[in-house]
Amino acid sequence: MITVLSGGTGTPKLIQGIKEVIDPSRINIIVNTVENDYFSGLYVAPDIDTVLYTLANLINQETWYGLNSDTFITHDKLNELGAPELLRIGDQDRALKIQKTMLMQNYSLSQTVGIQRKALKIKSRIRPMSDQQSEIKIVTPQGEMSFHQFLIEEKSEPDVIGVLYNNVDPAPGLIESIENSEMVIIGPSNPITSIGPIISMKGVKKALKNVYVVAVSPIIGNLPVSGPAAKFMEAANLPVSAEGVCSIYSEFLDRFVIDHEDALLEKEIEKLIKEVTITNTKMRNIGDKVMLAKTVLGGIL
Ligand code: GDP
Repeated sequence: MITVLSGGTGTPKLIQGIKEVIDPSRINIIVNTVENDYFSGLYVAPDIDTVLYTLANLINQETWYGLNSDTFITHDKLNELGAPELLRIGDQDRALKIQKTMLMQNYSLSQTVGIQRKALKIKSRIRPMSDQQSEIKIVTPQGEMSFHQFLIEEKSEPDVIGVLYNNVDPAPGLIESIENSEMVIIGPSNPITSIGPIISMKGVKKALKNVYVVAVSPIIGNLPVSGPAAKFMEAANLPVSAEGVCSIYSEFLDRFVIDHEDALLEKEIEKLIKEVTITNTKMRNIGDKVMLAKTVLGGIL
């Protein structure tokens, strides 16, 4: 079994490549849940839904949110009624979110996601990092904001002083799934808001120290490929570079995959961890994704 730690944009792109090169039933994906919240009366688990749609070949690859061919009749109607939604939820996507909200009345989040991935005929295992409600706050000079308020209402524009999230327990079986993995892949996701919450849960780092861990840098040069990771890293007093990301993972990391553009950092990164792989990490098409997946999986294939 291969375990992948995932957020909702960079790692799902890599998962598209991984599922082409190994049997999807061998893939176990642990997904960030700190952005989960209620919107429009629905329980929304953004990163989990993105991973579900990615594995079901339904994901909208423009936005990495929702389905690739959806309509917005309900969303537009709500606007007309004077009840605008913070999130633009598509009609078919809304059905999955309604089902999740209904199931959550009787089942845990892990069980709910298990039911939904089977309904979508997904063979890979998808594990929410926790069944407990986690919360993330972005601290700005204007005060604390929820992640969605920062990202959507404020368009990631405010300065960031810090990022806070509460401690939650790992979902049942999560630690064991890491311990039983041939390899753990930390995809190119935001190290502070997507991977940080997963690795800071009790027992996760200890489990990672005992397995082979490979990470892909989400930072190329001095910029993230997309999203607000730079602001969050600066707020944590980390350099916005592949080296900065590596320093977050170095205590349990065996191999770090960086982009050709960062080849000059190899020597510095080798001071932090044993192995560095230099390759193309920009995933513009399925060919790039498959190539990167093969490089990451290496000896497993
Ligand atoms: P979120 O949940 O939407 O914040 O998404 P993630 O945390 O999964 O991913 C965001 C990170 O993915 C950003 O820091 C990007 O730099 C990174 N990313 C997106 N696309 C790529 C890519 O093609 N290559 C690499 N190396 N990183 C990427």
